[in-house]
Amino acid sequence: MENGDVKPKKGLWGVIDRIVAPLRLEWPFFVFAILLLRPAVFHNAYFEDLVNPYSGGMLVYLADLLTTLSFAAVATYIVAYSGRWAKQGAYLFLWALFLMSLFLSLVFDRKINMLTIQQIIETNTAESKEFISVFALSRGGVGALVAAVLFFVAIIVVEKNKERIEAFVSRIVAKWLKNALAPLLIVAILMGFLPLSKSGYYRDKILQNYPLNTVTCLIYSLYGFKEESDKMSRVDQWVERVARETVGTDEVDDSLCVIYVLGESFIKSHAQVYGYRLPTTPRLKAELDSGNLFAFTDAVSPYCSTNEMLKSTFFMNSSNEGEDWSDYPFFPQLFRKAGFFVNMCDNQTPSATPDDFDKAFRLLLHKKSLSKNSYSAVTPIRHAYDLDNILEFEDINRNNHPPRALLIFHLMGQHIYASERFPHVEPFVKFTEDDYPKTAPYLDVRHRRLMADWDNATLYNDSVVAHLIDVYRNENALLVYFSDHGEEVYDYRDCYGRHEPEKGMVGEWAHCVFDVPFFVWCSDEYKRRHPERVARIAAAVDVPFSTDCVPHMVVGLSGLSTPYYRPHLDVTNPQFAPVTRYIHSSDGRRFNYAEAVGKEKRR
Ligand SMILES: [Zn+2]
Repeated sequence: MENGDVKPKKGLWGVIDRIVAPLRLEWPFFVFAILLLRPAVFHNAYFEDLVNPYSGGMLVYLADLLTTLSFAAVATYIVAYSGRWAKQGAYLFLWALFLMSLFLSLVFDRKINMLTIQQIIETNTAESKEFISVFALSRGGVGALVAAVLFFVAIIVVEKNKERIEAFVSRIVAKWLKNALAPLLIVAILMGFLPLSKSGYYRDKILQNYPLNTVTCLIYSLYGFKEESDKMSRVDQWVERVARETVGTDEVDDSLCVIYVLGESFIKSHAQVYGYRLPTTPRLKAELDSGNLFAFTDAVSPYCSTNEMLKSTFFMNSSNEGEDWSDYPFFPQLFRKAGFFVNMCDNQTPSATPDDFDKAFRLLLHKKSLSKNSYSAVTPIRHAYDLDNILEFEDINRNNHPPRALLIFHLMGQHIYASERFPHVEPFVKFTEDDYPKTAPYLDVRHRRLMADWDNATLYNDSVVAHLIDVYRNENALLVYFSDHGEEVYDYRDCYGRHEPEKGMVGEWAHCVFDVPFFVWCSDEYKRRHPERVARIAAAVDVPFSTDCVPHMVVGLSGLSTPYYRPHLDVTNPQFAPVTRYIHSSDGRRFNYAEAVGKEKRR
């Protein structure tokens, strides 16, 4: 273990020398481990974060640097005391982690976290193909691969020339400096373990905001998985509890159809109904003009991940008040208990076996206990276009006319690759690149075509929602449509999808990604029967609220009587109490929405 050319020292120096000996012996591994553990440092956005008041700042950055040093040291000790194969295996592991992390960082502005891993596991084949064509072959994707290959070559070159480099360093670095570095290194390594203590600071600040090194990210992900599994068990307990209880129906009409439509990735400012310059929602605009549609102007989603929004908008909790979704009932089960026919029509169900449904968090809506106790029926097959999924539901239920029904439609909306979301036929190929002026250098023809596709998908989405309205127009019906979150389509920067905010543009980011279109449509019959409820809806259209409380609105407007309904969370109830609205970036960073958009107003 000892370097042959170094004479054993005595006393304290001897001990220090022995402690750092493995690091000195395997210094190429130690150095590369540090570099490979921190791929995010290659991404400019993370430097910007240092001065971003919303992130952890310099202290957290330095703490993470020390932790990286400690992890690298531990790995080096293991390698130094194991064989050659262990070293090669460790290199390969760190290198693969580096490649994955750099890819996520350059392409998605994301670190390894539970959501990311979850999405990788649960992405089905069709989506994988789309994923590869859109992202893996992008500039960031290729860049990550090139960087990883260069690293690989560098490792081989340095390991092969280890002795020559050592001789060179010995010539230029004074001995006293080398001696002084050893105790400093030991102190730094020990300090790196401090943030790992259970103080809570590490978890909240570093893990939530700033896990730059991949091992910390992995630890956090695994911890997150465990936490999520515990929540899944709590869901089962809640299902059993609600199954034993009753839901009052004294205020529920003899016949009532409640249509709950959860859209996907719809940028509010691209909706004609909200003043967009292009006619992207002509049919909803007609409903607005006729007085049947109410367009809420200040609805904000707390998360920009579909998964998180499914939890937020299907459970009776209030996330802004710190309540966890798994500690509250699943709202469709309340309707089922009230005797409603509840149908789930989910156009985002990935192809999976029923057993997978319980493992995959994304498939929460199809979790066995929820399915069994909440749905009367499930429309089984997923279609390329949302309308086809709805038509299939109608086909199956042609002879089924339950007096009370809750029909849930989960759309694909404008998800990821907008051009795949609408049939390329009249009238849905309305917008072209010519509709988008080249107001910024990055708005080349390709970008403007993507914008046109995005708006065409929105036009198609308009017809999908309008189709549902047409079908239930002559019944006592109430329809709620909103998108799980927004996204960006080159609206103010060269960015497509849901990425991290940039300094100075937090307001634009918050508006694009978290402002969502939110519509309540009432049939003439519903308006006739419930003028008081309709007046409350009309009075609430400009009230700021968060979409995680939508179940309370739906339960309230349907007249269900249950202790889980809390008037202060129902924006259409006079007792509604506004709370501080928080929004969460893909990396889990939390922002106060009002502050985020207020910043923009001050500029
Ligand atoms: Zn989504």
